[in-house]
Amino acid sequence: MSLLSIVVPCYNEEENVSYFYEELLKNQNFFDECEISLEIIYVDDGSGDGTVAEVKKLREKDGRVHLVSFSRNFGKEAAIFAGLENAGGDYVVLMDADLQDPPSLLPEMFSYMEQGYDSVATRRVSRKGEPPVRSFFARMFYKLMKKISRTEIMDGARDYRLMTRQMVDAIIAMKEYNRFTKGIFGWVGFRTRWLEYENVERARGETKWNFWKLFLYSLDGITAFSTVPLMLASVMGVFFCVIAFLMIIFIIVRKLIFGDPVSGWPSLVCIILMTSGVQFFCTGILGQYLAKTYMEVKRRPIYLVREQF
Ligand code: UDP
Ligand code: MG
Repeated sequence: MSLLSIVVPCYNEEENVSYFYEELLKNQNFFDECEISLEIIYVDDGSGDGTVAEVKKLREKDGRVHLVSFSRNFGKEAAIFAGLENAGGDYVVLMDADLQDPPSLLPEMFSYMEQGYDSVATRRVSRKGEPPVRSFFARMFYKLMKKISRTEIMDGARDYRLMTRQMVDAIIAMKEYNRFTKGIFGWVGFRTRWLEYENVERARGETKWNFWKLFLYSLDGITAFSTVPLMLASVMGVFFCVIAFLMIIFIIVRKLIFGDPVSGWPSLVCIILMTSGVQFFCTGILGQYLAKTYMEVKRRPIYLVREQF
C-alpha cells in the first residue's frame, strides 16, 4: 500500500469543498486497483465563509479528510507550503478546490510515475474563458521570464502536480518567505513529465485573483528568480555615458568650426527629465529587491495555524 496525499488550498471555497471530494472519489476504483490509500488535506487559507465547517462535515463521514486552518489569509503560496509540510504521503498531489485541476487526470499521471518520473506536471494549452488582456500579459510574463531567468518556468503551467516524497522534501527544504512555487518546481529539478490539457472553467464561486494581484504576483516571480533587473542600472549608465561622450565631442567640434553661441534650453530639459526618469526607475528596482530581502531576513513564519486535525 502506498499513501497519496492530496493537498487542496481553499480560500472561501465553501461551495466547492464537498463537490471536490465527490469528484475526487470518482477515482476510488483506480485507487483500489493500484493499492493507493488516500489522505485529503484541505488547507483553509483564512476563509471568511463556511469552508472550515464544510471540511468538518466531511471529516465526520471520512477519517481520511484533514484540515490545516490558518489564522488569516496568507495567500495560496503559503497554503501550498503548509499542505506539503503536513503531507505524509509517498506521493503528493497539489490540486485547486475549484476543480480546474480535473481529478480524472490522476490515473494517467500515475501511469507516468510508474515509468520512472519524479513528477508529473500539468499545463493548459488554451486559456479559454479567460479575459484576453489577462492572457496577453500572462504570455508576456512567461516570455520575459524565459529571457531573464535561468530557472525553467513553463508557459501555462498550473500548480496541479504529482510528486514523489523525495521532490516534496526538496521543496519544503526551501524555506524562503517570498514563495513563487512555479519557479521553485523548476529550480529543484527532478525528472518531470508534462501533461497538457484544455483549460477547464472554475466549477463554482469566483476567482480570487484580480489583475492587480496577478501583476504583483508576477513581480514576486521576477524578483525571486532573476537578478537581471538589478543589472539594468549599470547597462543604462554605460549607455548614457556613451551618448554623453559623443555629444561632448559633437559640441566641441561644432563650437570650434562654427563658433555657435550656447542655446538649447528645451533639449536640456528633455535630457534632464529623461535621465532622472531612468534613475528613479532603477532606484525603484533596487527598492523591490531591498524590500524582498528585508522580508526574508525577518524570518517570519510562512503561515500560522489556528486549527488542525
Ligand atoms: N487560494 C488560496 N489563497 C488565496 C487565493 C486562492 O488558497 O489567497 C486557492 C483557491 O481557493 C483555489 C486556488 O487557490 O483553490 C486557485 O485560486 P483561483 O481558482 O481563485 O485562481 P485561478 O484559478 O482563477 O487562477
Ligand atoms: Mg481557479
